[in-house]
Amino acid sequence: MTDAGRAAALGAIANEVRACTRCRLHAGRANAVPGEGSPETEVVFVGEGPGANEDQQGRPFVGAAGGLLTELLAAIGWRRDDVFITNVVKCRPPGNRDPQPDEIAACAPYLHRQLEILDPALVVTLGRFSLQTFMPGARIGSAHGTVRPVDPATGAADALALALYHPAAAFRQTALKETLFEDMANVPAALIRSREARAARRAAAVTPLPPPAPATPDSTSVPSISVERTADLGPVAVAVADDPDQLRLF
Ligand code: URA
Ligand code: SF4
Repeated sequence: MTDAGRAAALGAIANEVRACTRCRLHAGRANAVPGEGSPETEVVFVGEGPGANEDQQGRPFVGAAGGLLTELLAAIGWRRDDVFITNVVKCRPPGNRDPQPDEIAACAPYLHRQLEILDPALVVTLGRFSLQTFMPGARIGSAHGTVRPVDPATGAADALALALYHPAAAFRQTALKETLFEDMANVPAALIRSREARAARRAAAVTPLPPPAPATPDSTSVPSISVERTADLGPVAVAVADDPDQLRLF
């Protein structure tokens, strides 16, 4: 899909979310919060659900937890616009209560479709509910800072998940702030690992080339095959491991 195609498809989902009445959370919202960010990104951050500020503005992570998320991104040299940021539920649970299982299930198709379109290499989970979506059965106390392959049934066809505490947890338990920065520091390496694994799988999936055609004076087939082969590997095949600055460029 082209960048413009991805942007349009994400915009169409956002419009559906804003009109959605699939679960009871629609009744209390001022604004639904579909998510935002770069349609070209390789990294998606998934939180729990909108709070009061997000509900007022219709944008994810714009309150105190959002301020900390922006700081965490800055610590690895990234900006919010470099990634995509969304939530497990797109409407604010009343009084910031936990989202309920039927609400999470009702909202899941939107996250699934966002992930299908973005096809991220890395999903960063923020908090318990996002963790359960991408690492079912994991416990945040032991899973934070670790990486696992994502089940393609989530919509992310070929991704790793990296678990982080929810930024808001650092306001209740101040020691977790340092843990969040330590775990965030693992993001670039996890992205590189996932890029390399994806590139290797794509290379393995390329149909073996036919034996070279005997050279003839006007043969053009050999160069065109090699061009297609390179294109099949996609932009992730660049040698990122040798160039850490690539991470800052996206
Ligand atoms: N907490 C979340 O989980 N998501 C937001 O968008 C804001 C706060
Ligand atoms: Fe629809 Fe999700 Fe909002 Fe429920 S939380 S009304 S499923 S967009």
